Amino acid sequence: MVKIEIPDNHPRKVSLETREKIIEGHTRHEVATAGLLAHGRGEAFDYLIGEKTNDIARQAAMVAVAAMLTANHPVISVNGNVCALVPEETVQLSELTGAPLEINLFYYRKEREDAILGALRSAGAKEVLGTHDRPSETIPELKSNRRKVDPDGIGSADVVLVPLEDGDRTEALKAIGKYVITIDLNPMSRTAVYADVTIVDNIVRCMSLMVEYARELKDTPRDELLKMVENFDNEQNLADSMELMRTRLGELSQDIGPLRQKRQSGAEA
Ligand code: ATP
Ligand code: MG
Repeated sequence: MVKIEIPDNHPRKVSLETREKIIEGHTRHEVATAGLLAHGRGEAFDYLIGEKTNDIARQAAMVAVAAMLTANHPVISVNGNVCALVPEETVQLSELTGAPLEINLFYYRKEREDAILGALRSAGAKEVLGTHDRPSETIPELKSNRRKVDPDGIGSADVVLVPLEDGDRTEALKAIGKYVITIDLNPMSRTAVYADVTIVDNIVRCMSLMVEYARELKDTPRDELLKMVENFDNEQNLADSMELMRTRLGELSQDIGPLRQKRQSGAEA
């Protein structure tokens, strides 16, 4: 495959490089074809927040880490997109929070499971749950392949991090009593709305931030962490994220002339 060189001053460099990672992940069979489309949807929402991590997302990411650190049995669910974009950070977060990784695929193929397992192992993962040789149990509320969960993973988890997740599955996880954390650029998706904590940010930025927070909060007293989780209001968080998009669009719509000039001169809008 020919690697595309993107000049350093290209205004869409990071976005294009991230897209390349997803395409490469697809070539290695980690990412499903539908995963390419899901990524495109994410990109559109990232545009709306200005392709930067904001304070609203920072706060949600901190609460998410606090919930993972205080959980009895936290688990991180991994799909192809997560694996292609942030394998090292996901493994680091797993180690720092004691949350095992569980592979969970909407479009299951043994080839995909093997590719993801290989990538996670190369990124340093020692143990990965959810593989075909492991025992499995089913979430009664779901019909698709993803009803299968690992009894030592999501099956017995109290807190699950399910980044870039489909709404049906998030709804089912809520129905069986899990505390659900997600990373989802679309604050209106069903997953974003069903979850207990939604980090409205690009996973390529916020997974490393969560790793940082896990290091920072590791020795914070448990009752302080629990208070952070208790005081968090996800409805407000989502409303604030949507308001940020609305304000930004309002400002941009008042500012088309200067915006066009910025674009023409190659500066970031
Ligand atoms: P839902 O099923 O929750 O209603 P959906 O059907 O619109 O959502 P899915 O494809 O099921 O979308 O879920 C993938 C979600 O992941 C989308 O909301 C998409 O915006 C989001 N997403 C894609 N790429 C990223 C990324 N890099 N970082 C964060 N979120 C992302
Ligand atoms: Mg969906």
